[in-house]
This record gives sequence, C-alpha cells and structure tokens, in this order.
Amino acid sequence: MQINLSHPLITENISLKKFNCYRVGGNARYFATPKSNQELSNLLIFIKNSGIKYDIISAGTNTIISDENYDGLIILLNRLNNFIIKNGNNIKVGASVRLNDLISYTIESSLAGLESLVGVPGLIGGAAIMNAGAYGVEFKDVTVSLDVIDTQGVFSNISKHDVGFTYRHTKNLEDKIVVAAEIELLKTDKLELLKKRSEILKTRAKKQPLDKPSCGSVFKRPKDGYAGDLIERAGLKGFRYKSVMVSDKHSNFIVGCEKDIKANDLYHLIAYIINEVQEKFSITLEPEVKFIGFNSY
Ligand SMILES: Cc1cc2nc3c(=O)[nH]c(=O)nc-3n(C[C@H](O)[C@H](O)[C@H](O)COP(=O)(O)OP(=O)(O)OC[C@H]3O[C@@H](n4cnc5c(N)ncnc54)[C@H](O)[C@@H]3O)c2cc1C
Repeated sequence: MQINLSHPLITENISLKKFNCYRVGGNARYFATPKSNQELSNLLIFIKNSGIKYDIISAGTNTIISDENYDGLIILLNRLNNFIIKNGNNIKVGASVRLNDLISYTIESSLAGLESLVGVPGLIGGAAIMNAGAYGVEFKDVTVSLDVIDTQGVFSNISKHDVGFTYRHTKNLEDKIVVAAEIELLKTDKLELLKKRSEILKTRAKKQPLDKPSCGSVFKRPKDGYAGDLIERAGLKGFRYKSVMVSDKHSNFIVGCEKDIKANDLYHLIAYIINEVQEKFSITLEPEVKFIGFNSY
C-alpha cells in the first residue's frame, strides 16, 4: 500500500539490519524514534489517522526481521525515556534503559531482585513486555506497575496484577507500548549480589554460544520437558541450514554461521525444527522469538 506520510519524526527507507540481534532485515519504508511520551503519543495518533501498519523494536534482541522491505512504519524505542529514579527500595526506570545497566545500578545500590536476569540483553520495555526471565526469576517478580501508551495515544499506569504477566508474555498489553516501569527491590548485602552476578555470567558463558549472533532461546519451554532437549533428541543439534545453524553448544539457540545471515534461513530452520519435533514427539514448539514482516508466526 502506498501512503505518503509527512510527520516531523518520520524518516524514509531505513535499513533495519542494525536494529536486531541477527543483523537481518530489509528497509523500513517509514521509521521513527520517539524520545518522549508526548512524541510517542502524537505519533500513535498520527498512525491511527493515517491507517498505516506499524511494528515496535526496542533493542531487537528477541526479534527476527524479514529480508523483504517493510511497507509500513517501524517505531524504534531505544531512545524513549532514558532515566533511572531511585526512591528507597523503589526504582522508576524508562523503557530505553538497558536491563544490564539497571542491574549494575541495583547491585551498586545493594538492592536484590533483578540480579538473576544478568546477561539478558535488551531494554526495559522489551524485558517488561516479554516478561523476561532467567534462573527462576521473571521481570514480573519485581514489578509494581508499568506506564503504557495505547494505540489512541493515551497514557496510563497499569498495576502488576492487571498486566496479565504469563510465561514470556503479557496478555493484557497486546495493543500497548511500555514507556516506563516501577520496580520494588530488597535491601541486601552487595557482596552476595556481586557473587551471584559473576556465577550467573560464568554459567551463561559455559552453556550458551555467546560468541555468535543469536536471539537467545528460540522456543518457549513446552509443558513437558525442555525445547533444547527435544531438538537434540530429534537429531538436530548442530544442524545447519544455509547461513544459520542449531548451536552445538545449546540446542535451543540458533546461531549465525556466516557474516551475512538471511532472515529467510532463520524462518525456514525454525519451521523445520517445529515440524521435526512435532513428527517425532507430537509436541508443538512455540517460538519465543518475535517476527516482523513475515506472514505467519
Ligand atoms: C544471548 C541472548 C540471551 C538471552 N537470554 C534470555 C533469557 O535468559 N531470558 C529471556 O527472557 N530472554 C532472553 N533473551 C531474549 C531477549 O533478550 C529478551 O526477550 C529481551 O527482554 C528482549 O528485549 P528487547 O528490548 O531486545 O526486545 P525486542 O526484541 O526489541 O522486542 C521484543 C518484542 O517486544 C516488543 N516490544 C519491545 N519493546 C516494547 C515496548 N516498550 N512496548 C511494547 N512492546 C515492545 C517488540 O515489538 C517485540 O514483539 C536472550 C537474547 C539473547 C540474544
């Protein structure tokens, strides 16, 4: 659909490759990087009136973008609300703060609660909407409330209990953009936190292929067992498809094995894995990774 958009925040024909973990993707026909709630709200009202389709990227560490050009508007949130405000054990944090920077800050402040998530890349908005989790802790465990803006451009504050946090999902935020989060932590011993952080980082480096491009775990944990285990038992550990392969270090990771990775190769390998696991174990793996510009998933 050819719509001509004129808006001070919107630029045209921007390559999406640098805005995702695999460095894949075509050009976005339209592209905007709002820096404040007001700019985002105005943009959403503009979008509603223009009828153009849009998608959101924050750090893109859990996102695969199609190699085809994107005929719509990409809203990049990596500059929206970059603040950390501490008030006792409570912290208000903007959507574009890196989760790992927040964790460093909370450890320095001797505040416990987030340290298990160390090593999860991405920004606060992505961590909140995905309910990011690791080593028995999820983002919801520390959340008090989220500030959001809806598709009408209206701001609201949603308490933790109304967010609908589930495993790697927030079911009541389907049409909302997270602009900030309020979290509550516990005062504790800083040395304990430093020790835990270093143990987790060591475990991650040992178990995960951190030297290659990936999106972390590709599939959600199924009801029974682990996705990585099923993939391995299906004989797919180390299985290569063109520019990508199932990691031989962690079978729920798909890593790039060429400089120029193709989103199409990722898409096909993911479909192949789903099919093989379904045939062998009658279990349907569900991707945790998000797709932009594809017709399915
Ligand atoms: C090496 C590696 C290890 C990882 N380990 C873990 C792990 O242990 N646990 C884990 O949970 N994840 C892990 N991940 C996945 C990923 O880092 C997390 O899901 C992260 O929280 C995504 O944040 P992001 O800012 O990159 O989101 P993006 O990839 O930019 O976006 C993810 C989804 O959220 C939407 N979105 C993003 N920001 C907003 C917002 N502000 N408002 C509304 N929607 C938004 C996007 O449209 C997209 O659908 C890992 C990834 C990598 C590469």
